[in-house]
Amino acid sequence: MRPVVIAANWKMHTTPADAGELAASIAAATRQPGVVRVICPPFLSLEAVRRAVAGEGVEVGAQNVHHEASGAYTGEIAAPMLAGLATWVILGHSERRRDAGETDAVVNRKLQRALASGLRPIVCVGEQLEDRDAGRAEAVVSAQVRGCLAGLDAESLLAGGLVIAYEPVWAIGTGRTASGADAAAMSAAIRAVLAEVGAGTLADAVPVLYGGSVTAANVGEFLVEPSIDGALVGGASLKPDEMAGIVARAAVTATARAVVEAASRPADGPA
Ligand code: PEP
Repeated sequence: MRPVVIAANWKMHTTPADAGELAASIAAATRQPGVVRVICPPFLSLEAVRRAVAGEGVEVGAQNVHHEASGAYTGEIAAPMLAGLATWVILGHSERRRDAGETDAVVNRKLQRALASGLRPIVCVGEQLEDRDAGRAEAVVSAQVRGCLAGLDAESLLAGGLVIAYEPVWAIGTGRTASGADAAAMSAAIRAVLAEVGAGTLADAVPVLYGGSVTAANVGEFLVEPSIDGALVGGASLKPDEMAGIVARAAVTATARAVVEAASRPADGPA
């Protein structure tokens, strides 16, 4: 059974002085069974968030990591520097593809580093509006997934807990969202690429999240889709009330999945 994951991408918001309080409020507002909660603050706020959520079952992630373990890379952050601070990392977010020129090849190297360092990766993919309008959204996203996973074997992707976030670029921070049906179709396309890499095991095991203007009001449209396993949330993740609603809805899906899973397990022997 795939986990239901709600990951908060705080982007370039909060300072070390205020991040802990916000994280504590979110943790307290989202105590729900069965949902994996991850908060990804700016690097400088990782320690404050880590302290604030200790004992709350909330996990902490970075928003990026360099592909080398150390070296002459001014201003960069390497995986070993995150030890004890973060257990997840967002890779290839569209804002980094846009602003830092990250390509699938770069994301691929970062993914290798994350897996080697024990950081659970959330690899972001998503098409531009012109790709969707031209009817090539699935081809573009499939190529991104192939490029990001190139050369990696199913075993290490499974062991590393790969998560993929489908984030249509035109939906990020715009208030527009994909439809649940479009997101589910894209999830199926992503799983088809995962099946090329590692047959059914990988395709079935990897959580696929939706991201793009997710709020408490619209998250249900995505979570009702069996192939969508949660959300990567930007703007709304800075608001404890929004996060409370999002995680509460995610808990409904997690509970429903657990019931289906329990019912499909064979009974423990003769009655
Ligand atoms: C994101 O940052 O990944 C994101 C989806 O942002 P927003 O929810 O604000 O669209």
